Amino acid sequence: MSVFTNRRKSDIIEKHQKKMVSRGRKTFVDHKTQSSGLGLPKISPSKKSKEILNNFYPKSLKLNRLKLASQASHTSTRSNYKSGIPPNSKQLKTMRAKKFIEDEEEEVFTINTKHSKLERYTLKDICLQNEWKEVKHTISGSLMWYIGPLRDIDIKILAYKKCYFNRYPKSNLICRKSRFHSIMRKYTRFFPDQFNFIPNTFILPDEFRQFCRTFNSNRERVYLAKPSMSKGGEGIFFVKSKRDVAKDPSKPTSLVVQEYIQNPLLLGKKFDLRIYLLVKGVKNLEAFVAMEGMARFCTEDYTDPLDALSNEEESKTNSLFSHLTNFTLNKENEKFKTSKDFKTKDEGSKRLLSTVLKSLKKEGADVESIKNQIRDIATKIVIAFQPFLVNTYHTEVGIEGESNQNCFHIFGFDILIDDNSKCWLMEVNSQPSMSYVQEQVVTDENGMPRTQKIPSEIDKYLKNVILKEALDLVIDKDLCNMKSFKTAANRGSKEGPVYVFEKVFPPSDTKKYSKFMIYNEIRVLFELLAGYKKPDNLTISQFQKLCNYPGMKKDTFKKPDYTMLYQSCKKRLSKNEMTLDGFTTALEHLACHIYPEVDSSYERLKTLVAHVISYASR
Ligand code: ADP
Repeated sequence: MSVFTNRRKSDIIEKHQKKMVSRGRKTFVDHKTQSSGLGLPKISPSKKSKEILNNFYPKSLKLNRLKLASQASHTSTRSNYKSGIPPNSKQLKTMRAKKFIEDEEEEVFTINTKHSKLERYTLKDICLQNEWKEVKHTISGSLMWYIGPLRDIDIKILAYKKCYFNRYPKSNLICRKSRFHSIMRKYTRFFPDQFNFIPNTFILPDEFRQFCRTFNSNRERVYLAKPSMSKGGEGIFFVKSKRDVAKDPSKPTSLVVQEYIQNPLLLGKKFDLRIYLLVKGVKNLEAFVAMEGMARFCTEDYTDPLDALSNEEESKTNSLFSHLTNFTLNKENEKFKTSKDFKTKDEGSKRLLSTVLKSLKKEGADVESIKNQIRDIATKIVIAFQPFLVNTYHTEVGIEGESNQNCFHIFGFDILIDDNSKCWLMEVNSQPSMSYVQEQVVTDENGMPRTQKIPSEIDKYLKNVILKEALDLVIDKDLCNMKSFKTAANRGSKEGPVYVFEKVFPPSDTKKYSKFMIYNEIRVLFELLAGYKKPDNLTISQFQKLCNYPGMKKDTFKKPDYTMLYQSCKKRLSKNEMTLDGFTTALEHLACHIYPEVDSSYERLKTLVAHVISYASR
């Protein structure tokens, strides 16, 4: 199979040949590029595989693949094997090498499902529909699919392997509740009217005092505490008293305490919406929001949350079934309902966004406004994530790697609508499940526990639509040398293609959104000062460059003040480094000293960044 054009292939081969010639060795595969840009099947760097390769590519690295293929076919290994005589080791080598060549010749797009667990079933469907192939070797494939975050080893592969990855390096970190809210906090501070879709949130233990003040000021308000690293509703509880969330050395995990939206829009029961957000590329980052998604319903009637606070222990679970919409939680309730007619009927505990919006329209809700709010929130999430995703990519993979444009990520974000049709963002999930199969432990006839895989029709439909279209948007057909790539238009679904994704980034309304991109400009400045070799931290001397630019020294703010500012904003506990977050805080302080006459803190920062960036980029 080939992922990229032959031109690229030959470039890599040529580069590789030079490397090999200079080393005077006969090995075909360099360890760094094993099974890499060539889209070749997996070759492990083990001694054995090197032997096999040396056997077949001994003389010259100018590969005459046809010759090699015919060389391999001269052996009678297959007929031997068919006739029941097991092949000897030499014949085995021949067979494996032949397979290697055949695979290489095959121009089929492949998805590596080794790390995809239950999402494998959806990927298999996509392969079937597109006439692609599933592979399970460690690092082969046109698309590497991971269910979890990329490990260090995967990031190394990403740096060398020219194929698609469904994850950005470390993108999971940005979705952790405390990190996510501290990022969004910067925007809510500068643009309170435009980032007013996040309920009032406190990151504990740091903001315990602020929380106490707000908590005391209005006892009618209800707060929900969520462990920073939790998911699926795990560990969430209503805050009865400040003591519930006071710092507890026996529980070192940080908490996020959030004002509870007490007036949700109900369709019989409380529900929220899972919306999918596709982000792709690095240098030319683009994002698309899916206007089809999943509505997840509670399985008990909604009650006044203040009642939930007074509930005794035994009714607590019931109150969770009324207030938390998580599927993992609600599926445990016997009242959980599935619907076969999910495409047309608005019923069941999991429903399509489209059917729910139809019902809401009938009930008189402003559906167009809801859709616009979803698009707007999606755009703002991408704006907030861009500096982190790009800086982490540059740090982990290198700046030259960004031209590959081979990373993408499907995030899932959760929207709660209140009874004024206002959308609230609950969280962004870095690993929204793309699986339609759940594992359930059942007891067999002998009373033994057994894991059963249970498919869900609605998930199968939705995830197929989302994945198919996401891959259509991600995979560059010109770069892929694929015989069998089927575009959305000819994908052959009986009901015709479903187009669900809409572009939200770069935003078409630049006037509205460009001011929010200030933190990406700060990221650019940070990387200019830090240099491209180590764009993840700034040394003190790199930071002090700022004070040498014209207009950057004031009587009230001189060079020693820069040193002090650096020390106070650099990462706590680290030796001598200032991260992008620290740099952002430092610039905010600096802007107050350099432009005290400017009223708005945003304008001060904006003026400072524009001024400094012009010198730093010279
Ligand atoms: P998790 O990652 O554990 O799913 P969430 O923040 O998504 O945590 O919260 C779980 C569920 O709790 C949400 O899907 C929603 O139904 C409910 N919920 C969370 N925060 C709020 C809130 N501020 N107001 C109302 N309901 C909320």
